[in-house]
Amino acid sequence: MSKRIMCLFDVDGTLTKPRQKIELKMEKLLLETAMKENFDFGVVGGSDLNKIMEQLGEDVCMKYKYVFAENGLIAYKDGKQLSTETIQSFIGEDVLQDFIDYCLRYISEIKLPFKRGTFIEFRSGMINVSPVGRNCSQKERLEFYEYDKEHQIRKKFIMALKKEFPDLPLTYSIGGQISFDVFPNGWDKTYCLKHIDEYDEIHFFGDKTREGENDYEIYESDLTVGHRVSGPDDTINQVNILCELVNEKKSKRT
Ligand SMILES: [Mg+2]
Repeated sequence: MSKRIMCLFDVDGTLTKPRQKIELKMEKLLLETAMKENFDFGVVGGSDLNKIMEQLGEDVCMKYKYVFAENGLIAYKDGKQLSTETIQSFIGEDVLQDFIDYCLRYISEIKLPFKRGTFIEFRSGMINVSPVGRNCSQKERLEFYEYDKEHQIRKKFIMALKKEFPDLPLTYSIGGQISFDVFPNGWDKTYCLKHIDEYDEIHFFGDKTREGENDYEIYESDLTVGHRVSGPDDTINQVNILCELVNEKKSKRT
């Protein structure tokens, strides 16, 4: 019997160019490979389901066996949503409120060149904190990014949070240009693997696989075979190479 293989893809920088829609040649490759090789496909992104749908299509949950948004805190299998945890059930409403209050107080006390709105965005498995506010324009986003490089606003904010809440089992991750994420330890992309158990091999493809980057943990996980890609074109290459390898092994066995 041949091995059951799952190919699991990061979205930004792996299936698509950052924040862009998936290209036709990628869709075609995935479709053809799925038919020819009998692989199953899944996607795992850090962003919410709406953003993943914008990039991979409204029908993304029907096209892929597994779709994981927010690192797997939002999970779909065969188009049906699976149940999962929330950050409030994990750390408790009381502590969560103390944490949010502290963030708001901290933000109210720092002086920046400008502030806009939506300083805290609440997601299923994480809190996204933005000192400048997520409602800033693209231009303001870049300006803050440069300001932050010089003044380390986000880094100092995280240091203050760690000092204030030393015992909370939380991970702080600076990503993008204007914010940082806070989530329970272990709720990185490896979280999605909790939902997958029926495969002999799970091949993960991602572009941010170095330490401190958001594909690092799942790329290094013992449960996956990691593939580091430089962009969507490289993903196509590496999927083709995987197919060749699998077929070679198959023909050796028979
Ligand atoms: Mg990526």
